[in-house]
Amino acid sequence: MSVTVVGSLNEDVLVAVDRLPGRGETVVGRDAVLAPGGKGANQAAAAGLLSGAGVVMVGRVGDDPAGGRQLEALAGAGVDTAGVRRTPGTPTGSATIPVEDGSGENLIVVVPGANAALAPADVDVPAVRRAAVVLLQLEVPLETVRAAADTASGTVVLTPAPPRPLPPELLARVAVLVPNEHELVQLAGAGAGARTPAELAALARTLGVPTVVVTLGAQGALVVPADGPAVLQAPPPVQAVDTTGAGDCFTGALGTALARGAGPADAVREAVAAAALSTTGPGARGALPDAAAVHEVLP
Ligand code: ATP
Repeated sequence: MSVTVVGSLNEDVLVAVDRLPGRGETVVGRDAVLAPGGKGANQAAAAGLLSGAGVVMVGRVGDDPAGGRQLEALAGAGVDTAGVRRTPGTPTGSATIPVEDGSGENLIVVVPGANAALAPADVDVPAVRRAAVVLLQLEVPLETVRAAADTASGTVVLTPAPPRPLPPELLARVAVLVPNEHELVQLAGAGAGARTPAELAALARTLGVPTVVVTLGAQGALVVPADGPAVLQAPPPVQAVDTTGAGDCFTGALGTALARGAGPADAVREAVAAAALSTTGPGARGALPDAAAVHEVLP
């Protein structure tokens, strides 16, 4: 069993503010907290903690202290970081995130840094070629995402975030697509507005991917196979305090279960349980569960 994640590693800089600044305005933050982040690395950390071994990260960081911190954080989650290369003279990717007290509303400024240097040649490695499951997102160059999907022989899982138009050749290589509702609507070229699960399933089927899993926040996730009925999987009850990174935990858990041989419906059952638990602590990696914790709350 193995999961390889190809994607971003960022250092999140979380700044607590009384209120978010308007355009041209200065506000004074109370403190700045550094936390490991990046969609790719968050997915890898979730998968690493759930499976204990067999999770490999492929990406790039800078040759700076922030890069060292990202590697250390992943290693601490049991992830093999041999596939993360260091790019001299380029900073590690970062996300600066003022978070408003009380409301929890935020703004995010991402500087891709070394993530933008992840090249197709970097993903032509055995960890991508041979993994049972390869997890991809869109915070690294699209040509690299395409190269990884072409190189993989295992199950390709794509999180289409941040949203952007996807070439049909990439979608054709994807076995499981994991958009949230907003990303699905954009990909399908539909208009905004509330939709029932049946309407979401119909949109998902227009994409021509074998399985689409639409994440629906506190409602759980909708599994849409190409044929057969769509199934809405509700999460176990939890006291959510911070949903940042819940989607990344969801996909890391989904990939772990698929790599073990679970079918999409069972993998989604585990993923909603893991993601629900991840919302019970602060930040993207503050409450990532292990396998025992997930099995205790499986819906
Ligand atoms: P993010 O960008 O914050 O990582 P997302 O928009 O990609 O999230 P969501 O659909 O909000 O994705 O959440 C992903 C999954 O996390 C959901 O499918 C669900 O299983 C779980 N989840 C999110 N919020 C909650 C919640 N309040 N309670 C229980 N589970 C939740």
